[in-house]
Amino acid sequence: MPEQQAATKMSSMDKYRFRRALEEIEQAEGRGTELVSVYVPPDRPVFDVTNYLRGEYSQSSNIKSASTRKHVMQAIESIINRLKQWRMPPPNGLVCFVGHKDVGADQTQMIAYVLEPPEAVASFLYRCDSRFYTEPLHEMLAEKDVYGLIVIDRKEATVGLLRGKRIEALKNMESRVPSKHSMGGQSARRFERLIEQAAHEFYKKVGDVVTEGFLNRREIKGILIGGPGYTKDYFLKEGYLHHELLKKVLGTFDTGYTNENGFRELVENAREVLRDLDLMREKGLVQHLMEEIRKEDGGLAAYGEGQVRRALELGAVDTLLVSEGLRKLRLRVRCANGHEDVRTVADEATLPKCPACGADYAVAEKRDIVDELSALAERTSAKVELISNDSDEGGLLLKAFAGIAAILRYRVT
Ligand code: ZN
Repeated sequence: MPEQQAATKMSSMDKYRFRRALEEIEQAEGRGTELVSVYVPPDRPVFDVTNYLRGEYSQSSNIKSASTRKHVMQAIESIINRLKQWRMPPPNGLVCFVGHKDVGADQTQMIAYVLEPPEAVASFLYRCDSRFYTEPLHEMLAEKDVYGLIVIDRKEATVGLLRGKRIEALKNMESRVPSKHSMGGQSARRFERLIEQAAHEFYKKVGDVVTEGFLNRREIKGILIGGPGYTKDYFLKEGYLHHELLKKVLGTFDTGYTNENGFRELVENAREVLRDLDLMREKGLVQHLMEEIRKEDGGLAAYGEGQVRRALELGAVDTLLVSEGLRKLRLRVRCANGHEDVRTVADEATLPKCPACGADYAVAEKRDIVDELSALAERTSAKVELISNDSDEGGLLLKAFAGIAAILRYRVT
């Protein structure tokens, strides 16, 4: 396929913007079946798509409800207009979501999104429904790096998955291996044999559960094995793992626990091995920030919106850290008397009055704060890192620093 362009890979910022757009798209609900979704694969000429849409347009003149008919026709028209800027779709194709969403009080509001998705659209699709059709996009946004996790000792084992940044337990098992104090009147040798037999049965069972859980998941990139003692190594060396899975083992790591808490330790201790994983990188960044903050002179760190914004304006930011959990808007507001201000708010319904004249503010311009700060950062070539909420460090960034911090190039006083 020489003519097919390679699909482009999205940056984490693009993915973030895409995800945020998706949130609004998915909240929309039509009063009738009047929300139009169109998926255009990269190899489909745009004129072909607009021809198809013209057909749908004339079909929709048969819709009985006058308001639904009007809304569907408007949506299709809008998509045709928006597609005009392309002859061929971009490398990943296009997805369009256009329609009138219900905003209550017998009112509707037109929303229109034409987006380039994170992965190539597989096939053409036109759908008109009371909701936008977004399912295929979730698969595209899903984290693709998957690792198998096993934590094991003689008493207990837990099998699970690390999916992107999320840890998921598949099964927890407890063994029936007797402990020393339950020896009773039996001879030491006989008791030893019993123990070994029970341990062997347990490891075999764990091996079977692992095979069942991992073997058909081809997406598993590697397997990490943890536990407190030598059992994990014994388990590995004595062939309890399926030979296909054995090839994927990345190593054994000490952990104190063999339950789900052990998974956290395992991922932490396998840090070297998994350092490419985003989670590790994110944790490392926040840890770096904390080290700077702990320094007596305050180090090369800034946190909180005011400090960071100032450092950004001075070009002092090396790396901007923003929490993905941040939900704030940067608003340019204006009152009826022409006084202007810029405000950061969590909710635009709670705007204060104009301090100069007491009149209400109206929103003149609205931007997502993550977007706005990133643009500021890009102006001075500062790196932007979006930190998820999935790690303790990510949670700390959001809670302790209101989701905004920076590692600096030089100290700002
Ligand atoms: Zn005013």
